[in-house]
Amino acid sequence: LAAAGLVVAGGLAACGKSDDSGSSSGSKKAPYVGVILPDTKSSARWETADRPLLKKAFDDAGVKSNIQNAQGDPNAFQTIADQMITDGVNVLVITDLDAGSGTAVIKKAQAAGIPVIDYDRLTIGGGAQYYVSFDNVQVGKLQGQGLQKCLTDEKAPKGTVVAELNGSPDDNNATLFAQGYDSVLNPLYADGTYTKGPNQSVAKWDNAVAGTTFEQMLTSNNKIGGALVANDGMANSVIAVLKKDNLKMPVTGQDATVQGLQHILDGDQCMTVYKAVQLEAKDASELAIALAKGDKPSVTQSVMDPKLNKAVPSRLETPKAIYKDNVKDVVADGYVTKDQLCTGD
Ligand code: BGC
Repeated sequence: LAAAGLVVAGGLAACGKSDDSGSSSGSKKAPYVGVILPDTKSSARWETADRPLLKKAFDDAGVKSNIQNAQGDPNAFQTIADQMITDGVNVLVITDLDAGSGTAVIKKAQAAGIPVIDYDRLTIGGGAQYYVSFDNVQVGKLQGQGLQKCLTDEKAPKGTVVAELNGSPDDNNATLFAQGYDSVLNPLYADGTYTKGPNQSVAKWDNAVAGTTFEQMLTSNNKIGGALVANDGMANSVIAVLKKDNLKMPVTGQDATVQGLQHILDGDQCMTVYKAVQLEAKDASELAIALAKGDKPSVTQSVMDPKLNKAVPSRLETPKAIYKDNVKDVVADGYVTKDQLCTGD
């Protein structure tokens, strides 16, 4: 009874401050959105695509925004969040660095009445109100199918050894990508089409570490004939190692970065996965603006948080595989320009 009484008192207090349709006082503040991006090194996308696209979406809607980058540092991530909360954001959009620091930030924001949107990476156990991303298992499937296609195209012999370089174990997406490509590759290992080679996760998606890790893989197994690499940044390091050793083999990637697309055009990278960040930024900004205005945004999908055993209302976009013959689609979509791809030739 006491608990119920408290809830009623809280509700009355909120109504008391409101002079219209019963919306809370929070909804009357001018919308102000805080965004925390993860780092500048694991992938070019965060600064070259996500930041400008999000900024433009908020600017176009006349909504104040503050976009920061945590530079891979979980402490900085938390400090930025604290500053944003103090500064009066009424929605927080975050791409976590790991579940622990991500969850701490979500809890703090929510305690201050600020809803949180998980952007691109689901913070497992975090309890964010919304999640915006791509179908990340599908991203991984495209990578697995891409490697298979490239190995088939170059008539790789039966039993070709495939190495796998996974993303950061801290990133839930890395788990989903691996789930996707392993669903394609495991049956091919099982029936002898390919041989399962070395398999390593790369903490923080560190591109340089990906290179040294791949070098060690080549030393430990000189039969590697294909590399499933989880993103373009790491693929770039793998390609550098292959070139140094005068080797050539299909390498996958992700993000349709300028560098990745150039490697594809040069024949050094087999494929990448294009994720139209325009759509992801649009989804996130729409949700953020609605929440900032005190509205309840409409979403039709959801993703399970396995730790909370709770469905998180979500918007998920569809990824697309890019090979040499359809690099032009990424240009046509306006994600990169022809000029960007042609510099350095
Ligand atoms: C993103 C990828 C990115 C990687 C490293 C993942 O969570 O989905 O697009 O390449 O992080 O930043």
